[in-house]
Amino acid sequence: MVVQDKTNSHQYKTMEGNQHKAEANVLLLGALNVGKSALTVRFLTRRFIGEYGEIESIYNHTDKIDGREISFNIWDSLYPQSCESPDSVSEKQLLWADGVILVYSICDRSSFEVVRHQVQLIRQAGKTCAHVPIIIVGNKRDLQHQRVVSSEEGRLFALSADCAFYEISAAETYHGVLLVFHELLELIKESRSVKKGAIGIKGIVRSVSAVFGKKRE
Ligand code: GDP
Ligand code: MG
Repeated sequence: MVVQDKTNSHQYKTMEGNQHKAEANVLLLGALNVGKSALTVRFLTRRFIGEYGEIESIYNHTDKIDGREISFNIWDSLYPQSCESPDSVSEKQLLWADGVILVYSICDRSSFEVVRHQVQLIRQAGKTCAHVPIIIVGNKRDLQHQRVVSSEEGRLFALSADCAFYEISAAETYHGVLLVFHELLELIKESRSVKKGAIGIKGIVRSVSAVFGKKRE
């Protein structure tokens, strides 16, 4: 149950301003047995090993996308998050995350309900955390004969909650997992530029009022 932070927190703070190496903190949430660890390990190693055990970890993985190095910090969380409220999403997790991947299994309706609840909890969180980019992932797409959540249902829910949506099989392919992480990175970049834009406007307002303030004196 211990979170092993395998990244160097000082390191990623200083990388913020570096033009060549960007960084993204990705939080994986969802019910037990939906494939959070399978997805993480697939992304880290390109492999599917079958059984993962119950460990919670933050992994670091550097990827090169369009010639630019991206350092992913991936928090593979445990479920339940707490005994009293199993679906809870802690403030610590949300403050840490630049983007969230919410995973359910297409063969397990209760896991879809967990995702619905966790999206709600995130969207109701404090001002800055509520707008974190989210990708909803329906995993175990290879088990079509056991499917109980349709693609439409997943997609429509994601749309209604302003989240991106993918159906994948961590067991069968690396490609789908890669798409999820790359799409999340795009959403994180967009949300960062929106934030920067907002700060920029505030800065302009401040400098304009400073000019007018001086004129009045
Ligand atoms: P977690 O509790 O959400 O971290 O789930 P795990 O990653 O430990 O996976 C739970 C079980 O589901 C394991 O037995 C995995 O082998 C299996 N699993 C994970 N992803 C898939 C998938 O895409 N298809 C199938 N058939 N099984 C999967
Ligand atoms: Mg796990």
